[in-house]
Amino acid sequence: MKVVTRFAPSPTGFLHVGNVRTALISWLFARSAGGKFILRVDDTDAERSEARYVDAIKRDLEWLGLEWDELFFQSKRLEKYEEAKEKLIGSGRLYPCYETQEELALKKKNLLSRNLPPIYDRASLRLTATQKEQYEKQGVMPHWRFLISDSAISWNDGIRGLMNFAPSNLSDPVLIRADGSMTYTLASVVDDIEFGITNIIRGEDHLSNSAVHIQIFEALNAKSPDLAHLSLLTSKDQEISKRLGGFDIYSLHQAGIEPMAINSFLAKIGTSDAIYPYQNMQDLIKSFTLSKLGKSPSNYEQAELERLNAKLIHAMPYEIAKNRFKSESLEDVGAEFWEVAKYNVKTLQEINLWWRICNTVSEPTAINYELTKQAATVLPKEPWDINTWSTWIEEVKKITKKSGKELFMPIRKALTGLDSGPELKTLLILLGYEKTFARLNGRSTQSSTQSAEALCQVK
Ligand code: GLU
Repeated sequence: MKVVTRFAPSPTGFLHVGNVRTALISWLFARSAGGKFILRVDDTDAERSEARYVDAIKRDLEWLGLEWDELFFQSKRLEKYEEAKEKLIGSGRLYPCYETQEELALKKKNLLSRNLPPIYDRASLRLTATQKEQYEKQGVMPHWRFLISDSAISWNDGIRGLMNFAPSNLSDPVLIRADGSMTYTLASVVDDIEFGITNIIRGEDHLSNSAVHIQIFEALNAKSPDLAHLSLLTSKDQEISKRLGGFDIYSLHQAGIEPMAINSFLAKIGTSDAIYPYQNMQDLIKSFTLSKLGKSPSNYEQAELERLNAKLIHAMPYEIAKNRFKSESLEDVGAEFWEVAKYNVKTLQEINLWWRICNTVSEPTAINYELTKQAATVLPKEPWDINTWSTWIEEVKKITKKSGKELFMPIRKALTGLDSGPELKTLLILLGYEKTFARLNGRSTQSSTQSAEALCQVK
């Protein structure tokens, strides 16, 4: 049977690292089995769902390379859920309830104050036909609960092993709200059946939902897909949520983190594999096995992701980097430049700064050209390597009798137009003799109208 997985975000916020980990593992599972990956938008909650979040979810998944084979919206499938509702009513598994929110809250409070789990007492199930009629006559619209049966619930979880749930610990879930709208529960099961989902991979916060879902699958005469629940992603000092900034994928994108750094990190965190900067999805797919994922919560730290990003860039071959240059306005960067500069940056955006400095120097002001012109006289001829800078500077020190800031600042300003920036020993190699000589003598080899300030502001 062909593997089919799905990722089912609710468009009520931006994707964060926790959601994306679920998407990625489902995607890797499907791709490593030559299967299909479906994107399902859980938008039955019309009040909280927003089109802009749908767009953002698609944008972030595309950027990460998690392409989907099929996309659908739950809000467009309401009649399917209605059919299932009728079926469950017909088999006596869905019953109307008439309690108000206030009554339910009170019941819950009472139970909790007696240290009992907040399980619905099935009072509405015991109502007579006449009592129900009375409610309806008063205009009370029922909400509908699924009747959990007594049969034991168990499954072999792809990550957590054998799971057992006592049905007595589960509250009959509301499948249809009083306003007739569907909750996620029924819609999710109906879709999983109809789209032939073979494997559901989601966070462990859905464990008790899964226990309920298994009974709904059975009640709808379907087999439950195989289930796997990912351990939660936690962060030392913050909860990872849609509402808190910083954990969302777009912020990481804007901070210059590479998609493959995020994919590599989120695929390996909490597994028995080392966290390694994979350059492409094919290699990540090859290394993937669900059984490598552990049960304990995984700690997510952005600093670790940033370090991985730097490693990824340092190891990135020019052929791969080239594909990324377009979006960074770096089309002209050549292989030679890349091979030298990449070891000095943590993000591709930083390459931008190096590239611009080398190619569009500004006319700096307030420079001691007397010193830099003297320095130019002892500039060695090419070929240059990483030791050229120190050999040259030793000579410059001798002839100028200058050192420290007095020596380095004018040279830095003449070469870069900036007070601070890339390491000069590397920059020298990238500039080459001709440009270095010209700049030391106060001439840029390429005319530019950019000011030093503008250079500093490259994104
Ligand atoms: N919309 C649900 C969520 O975002 C989907 C859960 C599931 O995968 O079934 O948590």
